[in-house]
Amino acid sequence: MKYQSTRGSASPVLLSDALQQGLATDGGLYVPEALPLFEAGAFTNAETLVEIAQVLLAPFFEGDILEARLPEILAEAFDFDIPLVDLDDETSLLELFHGPTAAFKDVGARFLASCLSRLNEGATRPLTILVATSGDTGGAVAAAFDGKPNVEVIVLYPAGKVSPRQEHQLTCWGDNVHAFAVEGSFDDCQRMAKQAFADPWWQEHKRLSSANSINIGRILPQMTYYAAASLWYERRRGHRAGIVVPTGNLGNALACIWAREMGLPIRDVVLATNANRSIPDFLESGRWEPRPSVETLATAMDVGNPSNMERLRCLYESEEAMASAIRAIPVDDHLIEDTIREGQERFDQIFCPHTATGVHARSLLDHGHYIVVATAHPAKFEQIVEPLIGGPVAVPRALSDLFERPTRVTHIGASLDELGSSL
Ligand SMILES: *Cc1c(COP(=O)(O)O)cnc(C)c1O
Repeated sequence: MKYQSTRGSASPVLLSDALQQGLATDGGLYVPEALPLFEAGAFTNAETLVEIAQVLLAPFFEGDILEARLPEILAEAFDFDIPLVDLDDETSLLELFHGPTAAFKDVGARFLASCLSRLNEGATRPLTILVATSGDTGGAVAAAFDGKPNVEVIVLYPAGKVSPRQEHQLTCWGDNVHAFAVEGSFDDCQRMAKQAFADPWWQEHKRLSSANSINIGRILPQMTYYAAASLWYERRRGHRAGIVVPTGNLGNALACIWAREMGLPIRDVVLATNANRSIPDFLESGRWEPRPSVETLATAMDVGNPSNMERLRCLYESEEAMASAIRAIPVDDHLIEDTIREGQERFDQIFCPHTATGVHARSLLDHGHYIVVATAHPAKFEQIVEPLIGGPVAVPRALSDLFERPTRVTHIGASLDELGSSL
């Protein structure tokens, strides 16, 4: 399997190169040259996540130096549960929040960490993953690379602008994870990270790589839980389900759409957004108009210009083809609040604000079977959720263990030179 750039002028590469480069040399995003197609019987003997991932992801590793390591990579990356929980007769919830930082980004980050640490075995200098974060991504990446040999992580986050629990998740790791609280905004952090990739001192002293959501290594493993959930649902209930995906940068939803293209039993794909409505507006008007993001309660989905739109547009011949293949429903903050408030009474569930967009979108759909994706545990967003439900949200074990750990952080100004001299 080769991976080609969405912009078409970089030469196709094997998986390992796509993982290490992140972005293609022509500035495009890597996509598989062709998606494999699976026959109905392909997964007959596969039931667990790891068994399903083994069948599903094998073609994506074909010809690569990591091909023989796929079983170990999967065992390491998928070492927590992803249960499919029934909400009512026609709806289930796919809980993606049982990993170390209690959100779905753990899946992509752990898979990428497993691949990159193997690719750097025997390297004389470690690979340095530089990540600027407004909260959630950095925690998942730090947790995934914590203690991994041959790689180190530098996390930059805006001081005072992440929640106390998020900050703990960024700063409680071992010696190979370095957290920096930057006196500035998230944009400052992102600018510093970009500068480092072009800076002579950094080029000479570090082997830099990134782990942000444009890396194909974040998307591929996410297809696994869509394949698994659709197969489990069909086996248990005898129906194909549609899937509702809370969506921001479109990475999670793209994995679902690719899984359906590959022949998995997914009926329709519905994207739930918050008030950032670039995607629903595009599907309705046919005009792509990215815009600045607006702040909502579902902060991890506050994206006005989703980077994976470039990959999605590559998949379809025209806007009309895309609009007939997927739907998108925007959900405003007051509906997010209502859904969280009603969640306990209707379903005996507490939803995080992101998951609530999906649950609300599902309520607007006709009858028919649906799986709603739960992207994070509500205890990560207790400041929003607790006032709405009028009580505390129990903290899951994985998170409370993290909150017990000591933290370590270096405060710096928003300058790359200061970062370099603090290492
Ligand atoms: C990142 C994130 C999303 C959005 O996922 P995309 O892949 O960016 O569309 C939704 N919910 C949570 C909790 C997230 O952390």
